[in-house]
Amino acid sequence: MAAVSLSTQRAVRWYPPAYDVRVEDVPMPCIEHPDDAIVKIKLAGLCGSDLHVYRGHEDVTSPCVCGHEFVGEVIALGDGFFVASPGRPDLYTTLKVGDRVVSPFTVSCGECHFCRAGITCRCIHSTLFGIPDLPGGQAQYVRVPKAGGTLFKLDTITSMLPPGKEPLADSSLLLLADILPTGVFAALQALQHPKVASIINGVPYPFNGFVPEGIVAPQHAQLHPEDRSLTFAVVGLGPVGVCAAVSLLEMLSEIRKKASLKFRVIAVDPNASRREKMQAVLTSISTDFDADTVTVADIPQAKDIVAHWTGAAGCNAVLEVVGNNSAISLAYELVRPFGLISSVGVHQAPQLPLTGREVYDKNVSFDFGRCPVRSMMPIAASILAKRQDVFGGIGEDASLIDRVVGLSEAVEMYEMFDKGRVGKVLFDPWR
Ligand SMILES: [Zn+2]
Ligand SMILES: [Zn+2]
Repeated sequence: MAAVSLSTQRAVRWYPPAYDVRVEDVPMPCIEHPDDAIVKIKLAGLCGSDLHVYRGHEDVTSPCVCGHEFVGEVIALGDGFFVASPGRPDLYTTLKVGDRVVSPFTVSCGECHFCRAGITCRCIHSTLFGIPDLPGGQAQYVRVPKAGGTLFKLDTITSMLPPGKEPLADSSLLLLADILPTGVFAALQALQHPKVASIINGVPYPFNGFVPEGIVAPQHAQLHPEDRSLTFAVVGLGPVGVCAAVSLLEMLSEIRKKASLKFRVIAVDPNASRREKMQAVLTSISTDFDADTVTVADIPQAKDIVAHWTGAAGCNAVLEVVGNNSAISLAYELVRPFGLISSVGVHQAPQLPLTGREVYDKNVSFDFGRCPVRSMMPIAASILAKRQDVFGGIGEDASLIDRVVGLSEAVEMYEMFDKGRVGKVLFDPWR
């Protein structure tokens, strides 16, 4: 085991009950379990989810080191590494001190049933970084439990780049910790849903899935070309919403190469500055997607456009990326009968705004919940590498990242972020 000197480090700490973060010297993390890694942070993200704790909305009652998004370099590994580990995730054999890594925002062991099934967000060892149980990444160093299952080596992405292409910046790679995989998940959950897959595959219900033996699809059981059209809405255009919209467009254009299919996407937000950001992103990728395929709208416009596009039927799927009841109500309004709402927003309200009768009357499907980031990582990395025009910049019109600052500015950045006066901020803890 490589030694880590026992001393202190700088970190952003949150204090209860709310709106109180301080930059302090805290103990250096150390190896506590053979499967741990210690990572020296290069960059850490400030995320909309950090505001739930900041505002005192989570059930956190004791101080904690904040942050669940980070990229960095491995500086120490526990004794679970370097030994022959048949059946364990590869990184227990291959991860080395000095490797550059990104971590999902939750721990995933890679070895339990949920991890093996790809549902890494529900790992039996799952813990969120940035809570009292697991100090977060807005610091100089962080301890990563179950690191052979949790971490993702960044040199994997270098191999996805065309020869001669510049390696991706750490600021871009940081998007893999949470927001890009979450956007990919929102989109993929819709594209893989049987109700949407039926249109993609051109096979009407129920012949797009299991049917009892001896039941044969009638010869005419192919969708008409006019039925092979998909309309999606993305509700909420914060950074995750932009990631969801771009990921959806990327994957739909790939599907369109293989299947004779039309698609349209409407990106919706009541906030004008978020719509402007989405529009700037679409402008930067406009050679691939024209205005007839994708458009940005406020809420009343969205209702009109969806009705116009679909003959009042509604969207096949709505990606809900906000996590509140008005977003769910809008998603329900926009979705068509037998459609899907893919919700990745973190909901806090005690009750959803829909009645059983409303859900029944639309045959609507809901997929809620946290992104299995570790499983999404390869797909998210390929979209990241391909769409550097969106995910590569800092502080430009079409950039998701607004600025990179030192930890000394953390208190001010939390305040500004809370009030919507700054976009996505990254901390460089060595500035
Ligand atoms: Zn986050
Ligand atoms: Zn697991």
